[in-house]
Amino acid sequence: MSLDLVVGVLSLQGDVREHVAALAACGVRTRQVRRPSEVDEVDGIVIPGGESTTMDKLARAFEVREPLRARLEKGLPAFGSCAGMIMLADRLVDAVEEQQTLGGIDMTVRRNAFGRQVESFEEDLRIAGIAGGPVRGVFIRAPWVEDVGPGVEVLGCVETGPAMGRIVAVRQGNLLATSFHPEITGDHRVHRLFVDMVRGAGG
Ligand code: GLN
Repeated sequence: MSLDLVVGVLSLQGDVREHVAALAACGVRTRQVRRPSEVDEVDGIVIPGGESTTMDKLARAFEVREPLRARLEKGLPAFGSCAGMIMLADRLVDAVEEQQTLGGIDMTVRRNAFGRQVESFEEDLRIAGIAGGPVRGVFIRAPWVEDVGPGVEVLGCVETGPAMGRIVAVRQGNLLATSFHPEITGDHRVHRLFVDMVRGAGG
């Protein structure tokens, strides 16, 4: 148990509750982060799945964007799933006009990348650093990672079908991102990996 750690969930929009439940199942305290002051009260933060354009707008409206960016720059561990992955990308393809990310991971992410036929699908994925068999990847209007810089570790790729080889899980230092939604499967291994990262960062 790590009840000393407080892991935040950015709670502007998206599947906040699912992440809170997954983190609680990993034995950490959680805190919903909505206000600027709350950014300083967490040892790590999850950026949920949802809609990145809305999340971006709300992050600016609630004035939480700049304090969060500042903490990420200083090494705050973060895990983004789906829209959260988009928020952690340094570069986007198919962003809407004026859309901004928090950035942090040296990667280009393509929004809604899988196209209409396979807008939503599930697939088993082998994820580097996660033992005990494949992780079920649930993809919902998901992005993929178009390219990564040299400091980014590719943890998982689509293994079958037309999108085979596309990167869907990455890590750079204290930042973790997945195109899919581990928060809705009941398998908490990805969250446990993130909690270990938070603990390792000295949280
Ligand atoms: N398509 C959404 C976006 O661009 C992400 C979808 C999701 O998080 N399930 O933000």
